[in-house]
Amino acid sequence: MIQLYIPLNFLGVLYREIRQGLIDLERLFELLDSQREIADRPDAVELRLARAPEIRFEDVHFGYEPEREILRGLSFTIPAGQTVAVVGPSGAGKSTLARLLFRFYEVGQPGRAAADGTPAAGGRISLDGQDLRSFTQASLRRAIGIVPQDTVLFNDSIEYNIRYGRPDAGPEAARQAAQAAHIHDFITALPQGYQTRVGERGLKLSGGEKQRVAIARTLLKDPPILIFDEATSALDSANERAIQAELRSVARNKTTLVIAHRLSTVVDAHQILVLDQGRIVERGRHAELLAAGGRYAQMWALQHNGAGASNPADPHPPPH
Ligand code: ATP
Repeated sequence: MIQLYIPLNFLGVLYREIRQGLIDLERLFELLDSQREIADRPDAVELRLARAPEIRFEDVHFGYEPEREILRGLSFTIPAGQTVAVVGPSGAGKSTLARLLFRFYEVGQPGRAAADGTPAAGGRISLDGQDLRSFTQASLRRAIGIVPQDTVLFNDSIEYNIRYGRPDAGPEAARQAAQAAHIHDFITALPQGYQTRVGERGLKLSGGEKQRVAIARTLLKDPPILIFDEATSALDSANERAIQAELRSVARNKTTLVIAHRLSTVVDAHQILVLDQGRIVERGRHAELLAAGGRYAQMWALQHNGAGASNPADPHPPPH
């Protein structure tokens, strides 16, 4: 019902903010249908995945504006059930990759599309070989779970906030998800337990607690594809290690894209992509990249002498 009371221009602003921040408000899209800037193709089909798919980016170009290319021909594959982490300096285009996968934006340059709307030489993103554009957006978004940088909590009970990952889930399933996300004990210690009101007008949760709520939501949703957009604001290192362990368990058997603003998150990834100015400048596993002595090794070395630790885009001390 809230759409009856919110002016449309406000919804437009909200939509842009959600899109920008990768905020996990998938359900809000149902309310914002008329605000969508990307239309389903007339022949779009429902995405049905029996298991985690292979994700492939092929020569993907993208710019928010025609005159400024942000991604300059990226190609990489995330094999089914594996994790690829993207690192690189601030503004390299890391979050943009995730926005394209969630199809907040279409690959290609706006303004350079052909008259029939086909983007000019934009490349493509596919799931198990099928172009993302062939699926309905609603079914695509149901298949993707996002643990965003900054989790938005509704002014409602903490139970509602977890169950919103899958509204048809019962309270017991929400508790199990909270247990797996290691937030159950925190919740039960609150005066009103799962019925405690949170959000702007309720109890304020810390960054780590909010991320755990997001992890519980995602566990409940159990999507085959996961995007983890790491918080830029550093958690304390004990909390960060715990969140990473929880995340590893969420990511098991899911095809996962990690947008890493700190290097400590990526050590276990099956593949690390080092992005700079919209290009992949290095790729490999942590040990391989260290041995190669290139960009990644430099970034890693930097964190050992502590330089740049105040910049969230720069590396952070490793978790050991
Ligand atoms: P960070 O580590 O700081 O989050 P990032 O690598 O994730 O950076 P992106 O958020 O992908 O970087 O941004 C890449 C570039 O695209 C930046 O130069 C940014 O200014 C630009 N950009 C991002 N969103 C928009 C937008 N909506 N309109 C125009 N330019 C944008």
